[in-house]
Amino acid sequence: MKPLALFGGTFDPVHLGHLSVAWEASELLDAEVRLMPANVPPHRSAPTATSAQRVAMLKAALQGQSRLTLDTRELRREGPSYTIDTLRELRSELGERPLVLLLGADAFAGLPSWQSWRELFDHAHIGVLNRPGIDVEWSTDLAVEILPRRVNDPKVLHEIPAGKVIELSVTPLEISATRIRELLAEGRDPRYLLPCGLFDDPSVLAPYRGVRNEK
Ligand code: ATP
Repeated sequence: MKPLALFGGTFDPVHLGHLSVAWEASELLDAEVRLMPANVPPHRSAPTATSAQRVAMLKAALQGQSRLTLDTRELRREGPSYTIDTLRELRSELGERPLVLLLGADAFAGLPSWQSWRELFDHAHIGVLNRPGIDVEWSTDLAVEILPRRVNDPKVLHEIPAGKVIELSVTPLEISATRIRELLAEGRDPRYLLPCGLFDDPSVLAPYRGVRNEK
């Protein structure tokens, strides 16, 4: 059964780094990939754009292809988006279908600070996407947890519903939403770091123009 892979994030705004690694992950895993914007991210300061604005940007970004889709379930839930709640919910909907949580290497290194992080493996596999320009070290807790879970062959993720960790070697793109917000705040035009659909309507990027970056 084709796995369902979820790529969560703030997407404030969605950029070509997100889209490219999600696209390549779907190829490498032969999986359906859904981009899943988070509500109030528990680990970080509030996004600059509202949920509705972030969804509008994602919709504009995903136009013209069907491999990557959008899942707004976390925005429909009250309060902070805890991934564990989302995975429990999806697991009860999907039965035995394999589920993969896609995380950039930076997000993966921070996993032990997440709510009920060890339980994530009861519901999903984790696919780790390499990300350049970010120095990350795994804590001992994380290293010990993943050692027996590591696999190299994506086929394994088709055969069992959850519990494995795979590193996915994607084309490194050193793009971050922080950098894009900085450029927009300075009045610059990061045209080729963002999906072209975001430039169709000039009001889409308005939330970032002239805003001082807090992060
Ligand atoms: P910010 O700069 O605001 O922290 P971001 O660019 O890291 O934003 P997020 O929406 O926070 O984007 O990231 C969502 C997910 O995408 C995370 O798992 C993150 O590691 C991953 N990700 C973002 N950009 C890249 C990239 N260029 N390469 C690989 N993974 C990425």
